[in-house]
Amino acid sequence: MKLTELKGIGPKTEELFAKLGVFSTKDLIRYYPISYDAYDSPRAIGSLYAGMRAAVEGIIAKNVVVRNVKRLTIVTTEISDPGGRLVLTWFNAPFVASLLKKGSRLIFRGSVREKNGRLYMDHPEIFTPEKYGAVENTLVPVYGLTKGLSGKTVTKAVCAALEADSSLLNEYLPETSMHLLGLADEAEAIRNIHFPKTAEDFQKARERLAFDELFLFIMAVRTLKARDEEQPNYWPMKKCWETEELTDALPFELTGAQKRVWREIEGDLSGHKPMSRLIQGDVGSGKTILAFFAMLMCAVNGYQSALMAPTEVLAKQHYEKLCALKEKPGTEKLAPVLLTGSMKAKEKREALQKISSGEANTVIGTHALFQEAVVYKNLALVITDEQHRFGVRQRQAMTEKCDPPHTMVMSATPIPRTLGVIFYGDLDISLVDELPKTRLPIKNAVVDNTFRQKAMRFFAGQLKEGRQIYVICPMIEENESIEAANVTDTAAALRKEFPGVEVGKLHGRMKAEEKDRIMEKFLNGTIRILVSTTVVEVGVDVPNATVMMIENAERFGLAQLHQLRGRVGRGSFQSYCIFMAGEQSEQAKKRLEILRTSDNGFEIAEKDFALRGPGDLLGIRQSGDAMFRIADLTRDAEILKTAGAYAASVMHDDPALIFSEHELLRAEMERYIESYEKTITI
Ligand code: ADP
Ligand code: MG
Repeated sequence: MKLTELKGIGPKTEELFAKLGVFSTKDLIRYYPISYDAYDSPRAIGSLYAGMRAAVEGIIAKNVVVRNVKRLTIVTTEISDPGGRLVLTWFNAPFVASLLKKGSRLIFRGSVREKNGRLYMDHPEIFTPEKYGAVENTLVPVYGLTKGLSGKTVTKAVCAALEADSSLLNEYLPETSMHLLGLADEAEAIRNIHFPKTAEDFQKARERLAFDELFLFIMAVRTLKARDEEQPNYWPMKKCWETEELTDALPFELTGAQKRVWREIEGDLSGHKPMSRLIQGDVGSGKTILAFFAMLMCAVNGYQSALMAPTEVLAKQHYEKLCALKEKPGTEKLAPVLLTGSMKAKEKREALQKISSGEANTVIGTHALFQEAVVYKNLALVITDEQHRFGVRQRQAMTEKCDPPHTMVMSATPIPRTLGVIFYGDLDISLVDELPKTRLPIKNAVVDNTFRQKAMRFFAGQLKEGRQIYVICPMIEENESIEAANVTDTAAALRKEFPGVEVGKLHGRMKAEEKDRIMEKFLNGTIRILVSTTVVEVGVDVPNATVMMIENAERFGLAQLHQLRGRVGRGSFQSYCIFMAGEQSEQAKKRLEILRTSDNGFEIAEKDFALRGPGDLLGIRQSGDAMFRIADLTRDAEILKTAGAYAASVMHDDPALIFSEHELLRAEMERYIESYEKTITI
């Protein structure tokens, strides 16, 4: 159903939704909240402190004052209770004055700040006690927004979609299985993920939707795997001398883990069946060079290979690194080419021609690599970098075109091996579990806003030494309902602080070309400070960048923070990571403390999971490009096990899904696999 068929949504709103990647009611109900606003019981003024968001009940103690300052209308008043006083201020909302009468008892909800020992609340929401009673103890969804689109509009639209289009809420699991697995019903889960009445509702909904994501993924992997089981090695290769030559010419010695994993890869490629191997290794463990070795082995054996990166930035960087390797001995046979979606038509045509003729044998790119127009001459190996962003889609797309190539996926997601086996089916798993010895450990600091001045002085020092800096913010632009640093304002502030220093902005809503241009300028050192959302999280390598500052660090998962931190400490300079905590809670501090004391991704993931426990509400991701929207491999181990076991039993009893109880599941699977194919051919 189109969005404009919903009541209250016109073409303008439709356009705004499109910016968020929401094009239909189906997308809309899957546009999950990024967090929830809890309407807790009102507090006494005496229990308020600066920085908290709260509802407070009080009697209006003063006449309301309305002033006009320049073009601003300012309304102020004060409430009191036996424990103290609180000053309330509204800007450009003169109509609130009529709601506020001296002596009346009202409830106000907003963020508390402190100045010269007095407490203030700016722009609080106003409720009568009755009205507040109606929302008290509920959770109100907070959505990722874009300029011009309010949380209220999204909320209304979601409500309308749920009401208008009942076909969206079909249950596909057999009822008995659903009960056995202890899962909530699909329709209930969708409703409750948007509008949970209690934390328990939310938890149940989250569990069900995470199960769906994991189960369907596992089923798809198994189904595709079953299709290409027991095949021969279509692309047999001989081990070659050239990789050894290149190893000797590298400016560093391979770690023990790299050497071991390379033997495994080499063994697969020269073995009797197609390779399908997962290479897991922490950020900075040096996975890329292993991919290059494998590609070199293909080239020497007269075949093509393709390396697919999740972003254009990363694809380009891989390509440039590979081109640089061409200077070294052993690499004569490598003929690299880059292929990305944003390339000009002419460049693309040339690249395509080189790929189909075989003139290029080492192809690097984004998922543009697997569009219709790309015809390979003899593609023997497909490598996917940062696998969790892709999942099964490219495997499917690939196998339909030619003899199935060897596949190798590289991931820095620290999931324990046992879970990895469930997740990736019987992919072989190699661990690159050792970091190069030449690295200086990163120095970490967990600080709050009071440290900002010092941080700026520290930035100045690093800039003077010629280094570069990353600043990461959770949001792209200001959002009325979430108080967190955003890229736009942060970049503006830094420009002011460091005049003459080029500050760049990077985020997921920018066009690929624009992103490329910015990243290019950061790579070549023109941009000195890069303010970004987590789009830089994946794999980018700028050795000259030595400072990573993360705003509102408490808003990110620890695994993600660890990935972000991995962007620095890549060269020979001492590097630093500053976790700026916007929230002062003990819990937030404890979590960040884990990062300060550990640099092991697996350990961090485990500790984070233990600490967050299942009661955590802020478990929904913001970024739209992750493989899963809700499921989180590091914290949903239990759900993953359940989903894995259930998938195994279904595949055992009814692999083709022909029983009538699996009819709806089969349809869902077909849709799932098809939608991945679509994603790949966009
Ligand atoms: P990741 O595993 O996160 O993808 P990369 O492959 O990007 O890591 O490697 C990070 C950096 O470490 C690169 O600059 C790479 O050249 C370098 N590197 C790789 N292997 C070694 C090694 N054995 N010793 C020193 N540096 C290495
Ligand atoms: Mg990498």
